[in-house]
Amino acid sequence: MTNEKWMKFCPQCGKRTDDLIDSLCRECFIRTIQLIEPGEMKVSVSICKRCGAYFRGSERTSIEDAVVHTVSREIRRRYKNRLERCMVEVNQIVRNSRRARAIVTVTVRAEIRGVTVEQTGEIEVDIKTWTCNRCSRIAGGYYAAIVQIRAQNRFPADDELATAVEIAQSSLSGEEFVSRQRLLKEGLDIYVSSMECGRRISRAIVKRLGGNFTESRRLYGRKDGRNIYRTSFAVRLPGLREGEGDLKEKM
Ligand SMILES: [Zn+2]
Ligand SMILES: [Zn+2]
Repeated sequence: MTNEKWMKFCPQCGKRTDDLIDSLCRECFIRTIQLIEPGEMKVSVSICKRCGAYFRGSERTSIEDAVVHTVSREIRRRYKNRLERCMVEVNQIVRNSRRARAIVTVTVRAEIRGVTVEQTGEIEVDIKTWTCNRCSRIAGGYYAAIVQIRAQNRFPADDELATAVEIAQSSLSGEEFVSRQRLLKEGLDIYVSSMECGRRISRAIVKRLGGNFTESRRLYGRKDGRNIYRTSFAVRLPGLREGEGDLKEKM
């Protein structure tokens, strides 16, 4: 038999135990811990007011991803290697005229003074608006390359131009964009955000519609001690469209 007289006890609940943490029993100690303090955690994500995209660093993403990533990072920063598990779930997006915020349920399991504690709580994530890099460049008419669609001894047909535009839009990736389209008497100019995407678009157009392209670069200016170039891609579609050649020979 154990000698109860000499056992320590918890001053909070009176339970007799030798397992005291901060002079409280395990259960009472856990009750003093609050892993998720709603007002204390200042977290925010950004949304672009023009394109509506959410961002994770400079990468566009979904609101779920932006919120989950940002909150998880904050939890990891707080609990470091004491963190055993962190689950973040977006419950609701609340918008009013003054601000927008995401209501998030967070479950954290962490080791606090040798005791594993798991708690679930709710926090608010502010949704801040800004204009993303891409949108401010589009608004400023920025371009780094022009894809010039022309045809040998003729004006490109409407369906060829429509195909070229469709190819241009579907060739874009990441932060790339088409800033302008200009219909001229000799063809169509498509203004794009980078030389790389201009080249990719030109290649894809030639692959689909035939012909070839050449590129030329000219110095546009200097920025931060570096030369800034603009590149023109001269796409030349074949003089005779596929099928038309056969027709002419028979005539
Ligand atoms: Zn107790
Ligand atoms: Zn944007």
